Amino acid sequence: MKIWVNLILAFSVFSANAQHRQHLAHTHGAGKMSIAFDGLNGRIEFEVAAESILGFEYAPKTNSDKKVVAQAIKSFQKDFDQMLQFDSALGCVLSPDKVEQKMEGKTSSHSNFVATYNVQCKKPLINSRVKFNFSRHEHLNDLDVTILIDAFQKTIEITNKESVIDLK
Ligand SMILES: [Zn+2]
Repeated sequence: MKIWVNLILAFSVFSANAQHRQHLAHTHGAGKMSIAFDGLNGRIEFEVAAESILGFEYAPKTNSDKKVVAQAIKSFQKDFDQMLQFDSALGCVLSPDKVEQKMEGKTSSHSNFVATYNVQCKKPLINSRVKFNFSRHEHLNDLDVTILIDAFQKTIEITNKESVIDLK
């Protein structure tokens, strides 16, 4: 399963870069994304400090907290293809896998918002462009993205709400 190897590589590339820049693992307003493809099959992992998405990081207590979490999960399940847009000519379909608020640890008051997807495209991604649009998440200011498509590799830091990355 080459795709899993790619995904693991994507995360180690990310860690090396993160270490280099001395980013903390959990930074409010920041997160990371890895996009790993083996041919036409891809896997996306997205993880950000939950505060950037939910406005809080504790485990939801009140009904309104629970509603915020449920809405965020629904949005990442249904609308992630608006935040991450592959060229429509490639016919890529994103299927959400796990989307959840994940506590940092039993005693920690911090949590992350994690979303994973499987992607199936009809045409290869190389030489296309991918668009990122996080305008609906005003508190998400820094996303470290690692892209691995077969032998192609790119690491990029996104600090704009809307960005376009050339896959070449
Ligand atoms: Zn936190």
